[in-house]
Amino acid sequence: MTFNKWFIVLIIIKSGICWTPHSWKNKPSSQLPKYRNFQKLEQVETILSKKPPLVISPEIDNLRKELLEIEQGQRFLFMGGDCAETFREHSSQNIINNYQLFILSTIILMTQTGKKITKIARAAGQFSKPRSDSVEVVNGLQVPVYKGDMINREDKHNRQPDPYLMIRAYQQCSETLNLIRALSSSHKYSNININDWKTDFLSNIYQIDSLNEFLNQLQSSINLLSSAELENSGNINNAQLYTGHEGMLLHYEQAMTRKDRFTDKYYDCSAHFVWIGERTRQLDHGHVEFFRGINNPIGIKISHKIEPWELVDLIITLNPKNEQGKICLISRMGSQIENSLPDLIDIVQQQGLNVVWVCDPMHGNGKIVEGIKTRYYEDILKEVDSFFEIHYQKGTIPGGIHLEMTGNDVTECIGGKYLVKQKNKQFLQQNYL
Ligand code: PEP
Repeated sequence: MTFNKWFIVLIIIKSGICWTPHSWKNKPSSQLPKYRNFQKLEQVETILSKKPPLVISPEIDNLRKELLEIEQGQRFLFMGGDCAETFREHSSQNIINNYQLFILSTIILMTQTGKKITKIARAAGQFSKPRSDSVEVVNGLQVPVYKGDMINREDKHNRQPDPYLMIRAYQQCSETLNLIRALSSSHKYSNININDWKTDFLSNIYQIDSLNEFLNQLQSSINLLSSAELENSGNINNAQLYTGHEGMLLHYEQAMTRKDRFTDKYYDCSAHFVWIGERTRQLDHGHVEFFRGINNPIGIKISHKIEPWELVDLIITLNPKNEQGKICLISRMGSQIENSLPDLIDIVQQQGLNVVWVCDPMHGNGKIVEGIKTRYYEDILKEVDSFFEIHYQKGTIPGGIHLEMTGNDVTECIGGKYLVKQKNKQFLQQNYL
């Protein structure tokens, strides 16, 4: 072989090993928008790369320490928030509603698990959505599908991806994060009065007797914290909240990535935690390439479609040193959980891989009912129950839960104690109750 050929072989080998925040661009990537104006895209990436980071590396390292404790069973992880943030719904009231719902849910988890809770809000970055199809038909017109406010606009006449939307999203993220940080640093669990908080939610939901009874019990637990004079205890009062989102739009994630000046490690400073979606976890694609180089803890969404060895390859690629507190496997399997999860747990155990197991009972349970995306509370609960049961049987640790949730009135989740959509009631009764 001539010198030239060796040189080319060397470059090919190196391109598989060398990582830069841009190296994902050498790989195919699913779900990314096809920007037309490359000059504008480059300008936006440059502008974002000079903006202040939204989070900083010591905070990200702290989250990794907490995730390590979760792996050891000393803590529990709670992730939750909007399906997608939008420009239209951005308001302080919305942020406060979601924050309050998040904190109340945390208190429920604290009282039920007796563990410290690590909190990751799906907020300040959850702007881009993967879609199964790239186009849709609206009123007989075929248009590119809407992929979230960071990528394109809901208006069907204006669906071309626009790089500038990343800057607008960044600005909204910084406003949201600013309020979340202020709320959580001035917050005391022991000071919460649920009656004051109630007024911001739907009032008729509180007319349900069992819910009222439950909230009274919750208030009693809060009163106990208060009467025990735990005001100065960091654990009780520190509502440290981390942020997380699907790192789908790699142009944005790359532009928000910073090299730590003390350690030379790279951190994606768009959020403390970023995850790879079920539709973008292909081993040889751009998302895995980008995620393997950042020092943030990483989530991998997995459905029943993943093969056990595929999962092992993915974990080893993303965490070659098998560090603890690094990988969260977020299973979202719907009715397939009992067929699929046990084998995955077995192979991860056999290979001695360090992971946190998290249950997302939302994304495997979507159904289209009368043309509307719907999830039934009963299905969600069933997946959570199975997740815990399977882990108890295997002797492994169910480390956390990942929910789509909102303080607003949405139609997506129905069932449970509160049948929001009466027209679905009959369907529910026939099929579920
Ligand atoms: C999501 O969490 O918003 C999502 C789309 O998840 P998944 O990749 O699991 O479908």
